Amino acid sequence: MALAHIVGYPRIGTRRELKRATEAYWDGELPREQLEAAARALRLEAWTRMRDAGIDLVPSNTFSYYDQVLDTTAMLGAVPERYGGANGAVDLDTYFAMARGAQRTGLDVTAIEMTKWFDTNYHYLVPELRPGMRFHLATTKAVDEYREARAAGIETVPVLIGPLSWLLLGKAHDAPADFDRLTLLPAVLAVYREVLAALSDAGARWVQFDEPVLVQDRTPEELTALSGAYAALAAEAGETQLLVQTYFGDVDAAYPALTALPVAAIGLDFVRGRRNLELVRAHGLPGGKFLAAGVVDGRNVWRNDLDASRALLAELGTLVGPDRVIVSTAGSLQHVPLTLERETRLDQELRSWLAFAHEKVEEVATLARLADDPEGAADQLAATRSALASRRASARTNDPAVRARVAATNDADYARAGAVVERRRAQRARLNLPPFPTTTIGSFPQTDELRRARRRFDDGELDEAAYEQVIRDEIARVVTLQEQLGLDVLVHGEPERNDMVEYFGEQLAGFAFTRFGWVQSYGSRNVKPPIIYGDVSRPDPMTVRWITYAQSLTQKPMKGMLTGPVTVLNWSFVRDDQPRAETCRQVALAIRDEVADLEAAAIAVIQIDEPALREGLPLRRSDWTSYLGWAVPCFRLATAGVRDDTQIHTHMCYSEFNEIIQAISDLDADVISIENSRSDAELLDVFRRFSYDKEIGPGVYDIHSPRVPPAAEMTDRLRQATAVLPPDLVWVNPDCGLKTRRYEETVPALEHMVAAAQALRAGAAA
Ligand code: GLN
Ligand code: ZN
Repeated sequence: MALAHIVGYPRIGTRRELKRATEAYWDGELPREQLEAAARALRLEAWTRMRDAGIDLVPSNTFSYYDQVLDTTAMLGAVPERYGGANGAVDLDTYFAMARGAQRTGLDVTAIEMTKWFDTNYHYLVPELRPGMRFHLATTKAVDEYREARAAGIETVPVLIGPLSWLLLGKAHDAPADFDRLTLLPAVLAVYREVLAALSDAGARWVQFDEPVLVQDRTPEELTALSGAYAALAAEAGETQLLVQTYFGDVDAAYPALTALPVAAIGLDFVRGRRNLELVRAHGLPGGKFLAAGVVDGRNVWRNDLDASRALLAELGTLVGPDRVIVSTAGSLQHVPLTLERETRLDQELRSWLAFAHEKVEEVATLARLADDPEGAADQLAATRSALASRRASARTNDPAVRARVAATNDADYARAGAVVERRRAQRARLNLPPFPTTTIGSFPQTDELRRARRRFDDGELDEAAYEQVIRDEIARVVTLQEQLGLDVLVHGEPERNDMVEYFGEQLAGFAFTRFGWVQSYGSRNVKPPIIYGDVSRPDPMTVRWITYAQSLTQKPMKGMLTGPVTVLNWSFVRDDQPRAETCRQVALAIRDEVADLEAAAIAVIQIDEPALREGLPLRRSDWTSYLGWAVPCFRLATAGVRDDTQIHTHMCYSEFNEIIQAISDLDADVISIENSRSDAELLDVFRRFSYDKEIGPGVYDIHSPRVPPAAEMTDRLRQATAVLPPDLVWVNPDCGLKTRRYEETVPALEHMVAAAQALRAGAAA
C-alpha cells in the first residue's frame, strides 16, 4: 500500500477566515473564544478534506495564528526580554506582541524582525539568538492540535520546524562575532525531546520535522549537529516514527548525513530539486527507510502530469524498494491558493490546466492509488492527459510572433549604444539637473479616497471616465506638491496602480488573474499573484497616457515608471512548460515596447523597478551564476533600446548587495536608487571595495517607519555617502516608494530631504 502524504496545508481558509478573525480580535471586536473557535473550524475543515480525499498522513500543527517559525519560538520559550521574557507559558497576547508589536499600558514594543521564507514570498519572524539563552517548553500547541484531530476521529502527523532549521533561521544581532549558535542546540533539543515524548504518549504514529535549511549550503559542523540532533530525538521517539522533511531544492552534500539519520523516513522535493533524483540513483536509501517523494508541486499552480509522476515514483520504487515510497507534495501547500472551485471567471480551458491546494490533495491521493492499482484511476488519467494536451497545443500558450521575436534578438539588443560616460554627457545636456539631484521612488501615498474610488470602479459604481478623472486629479495634485517641494525629477505618483505587478499583468497577454487565489504573505496579509500561462506580449501602451499627462503639467523632467521583468516573474506563478528565462525574455520585450513608447513620447527619464532581483537569488550559491546569467540580460533587454540621452533608472529594495554588486553594475542602468537606510555602513563598505561608475541614490531615509528624520540627519548620511562615492554621481531620494505612508509624514520628510540636498550643494560649492 503506497501511503499518501501532504507536507503542509494553507491555514487562511477558502474565504480568508483567518484574516477576518485575527484582525477582528486585534481590534477588540472578537472575543478570544470566538477567535479560537474560528481557528478550530479551519483546522477541522483542512484535516477532514485531506482525510476524505484518501490521504494517509494528514499534517497537523500546520495551522498558525501568524507564522510557524514564531510558533516554534513560542514553543521553545525563546521570547525576547522586551516582550516580558517568558518563564511560564507563552500566551496569545505575548505571541501577537512578538508578531506585530504592541502599544498598551506598560508595554511599547516593535515587532520581531520579519524576513522572506527561503525563496518564497512568505515571510517568517526571525528567531532572536544570544549566547547562553535558555529554553523551556512554553506552549502545548503541537500536542493540543494532535489531540483535537484525534478527538474528531482523524489521525494526523504533527509537524514541527526542525531544531536545526529553527536555529539556522535565527539571527544573533547583539552577539559577539565568535558566537556559535550551534552551542544552543543541546538546550533547544531538550525542549524538542519533551514535545516528542508528549506526542508519543498521546499516540502519534508519525512526527514530521521540517529541515528546509538542508537545501542551502551547509558546513560540515552543521551536518554533524544534524546527526547529533536526530540521534537524540530518536532516543525519545518510542513507537513513534520520525520523518525528516526537506523542500524547495536539492539536498546535495547533505544527502549522506540526511539518509544516515536514525529515522523512519526522509522527504525530498523532486520538483524544485532537480538533482535529488540523481542522488537517490547514485546512493540509494540505506537502512530500509521510507522516502516521502515530493512529486506534486507545492509552489506552483499547474495540474500535475500524472503519467510523468507515476513514472518517477516507479523508478524511485525500484531504487529504494516498492513498498518504501510515500507519495507526497514537494513542500507545504501553504504557498498555493486553496481551491479552483470558486474561480468561475476563469474559462474552462485555463481552469483545466490548474491545480490549487484542494486539487493537489486529490492528485497525491490519485497517485498513491495508481501505485497500487494501475487501473485504479482511469478517469483522472484521461482528464489529465486531455488537459495537458490542450495546454501544449493551445494558441494561448504558443504565440509564434512572440517566439520568433525572442529568437531573433541579438547581442546588440542587450547593449546600450553609448558607453556610460557618453550617455552621462548626453543626459546632462538634456536634463540640466543641479548637483545632488532629488527624486522619489515612484509612488505617493495611496489615500483612502483613491482606494474608495478604485473599489467603486471595480464594483461598477463609478464609470471609467469618472475613475480616470479621479486619477488625473491625483496626478495633478502630486505634481504640484513636488514642484512646491522643489524636487528635481518628478513622478506621477502611481495612483492608477493597485499593485506594481498586477497593474502590468492585467494589460499584458499571457497573464490570468484569479478572484480568490490568495496566499499568505505574512500574518493576516495575503496576496493574489497573477498566473503567467502563455506567451507574453503587450497589445497596447500601458502607462504612456498617465506619464505624458503628468509631463504636460510641468517643465521639470517626469520619470516614466515601470516594473522590471525579473520582478514580474518573481511575484507571479510562472508557467512551468518552458524555462523561466524564456518567459522572462518575453516579459522583457513587452516592457521594452513600453520603454520605446515612453521615449517616443519625449519622456527623458524612465525607471524600471527590480525590487525582486536580489530576493530571487537561488538558495544555493552554485546556482547564482546561472540565475544572474539570464536575469541581468533580461533587464538589459528591457532597457537597452533607448538613445544615449534617455536616462534609465532602476530601484532595488533590500540592501544586501555585497555579493552581487558586479551583477548590479552589469544592469548598466544610468541611475540606481537603493534601500539603504537600515544598513548604511554595510552598503557604503561595498563601494569602498568596488568602484561603481554609474549614478546612485542611496536612500536617505526609511519610508517603512512613520518617523520624520530631521534634515541634519539626512545631510549626515549624504556626507557619509560622498566619502566613498564620487559626489557628482550621488542622487538624493527616500529608500523606497511612499505608497504606504501618509501625507502628514511624507511632506515634512521630503522637505527635509530637499533641504539636505541643498546643504550638500552649498557645501560642494564652498
Ligand atoms: N516604484 C515603486 C513604488 O514607488 C517601487 C516599489 C518597490 O520598490 N517595492 O512604489
Ligand atoms: Zn523599494
